[in-house]
Amino acid sequence: MKVSLDKINNKALELSEDISASDWDMDSGDVKFVDKIHVASSFKRDLGEILVDSKITTQRSIVCSRCLSTANQVTEQNFKKNYSLSSLGRDLNIDPDLREEVLLNFPMKNLCKPDCKGICPNCGVNLNIENCQCSKND
Ligand SMILES: [Zn+2]
Ligand SMILES: [Zn+2]
Repeated sequence: MKVSLDKINNKALELSEDISASDWDMDSGDVKFVDKIHVASSFKRDLGEILVDSKITTQRSIVCSRCLSTANQVTEQNFKKNYSLSSLGRDLNIDPDLREEVLLNFPMKNLCKPDCKGICPNCGVNLNIENCQCSKND
């Protein structure tokens, strides 16, 4: 999202945009973005700075690292940053910072749910769906 600084004054300017995940080159092996990345931001001028408050919503499809099933997840994150006017030209492009913020928030491990039981290493059953007999025979 790129905004001309002339448009930003001391009253919050609210803007939103849908960004294609491919424009941001976001897909990785285990994470696919299934819809556009939605960004809603407010811009405000305060003394020598532009204050930006953004909400980023993504819908992604992940492959669970425990049970290998695919799950759709909606993520929401807030991101605030102040930009010094002296460091800016005529306009402000917040996309590089937003992109980095989304990447930083990628989970270390993709799980379909926090308490995913995974796959039985013995018989390969998805333990979220059914119980197997392996542990009982131990
Ligand atoms: Zn899982
Ligand atoms: Zn088993």
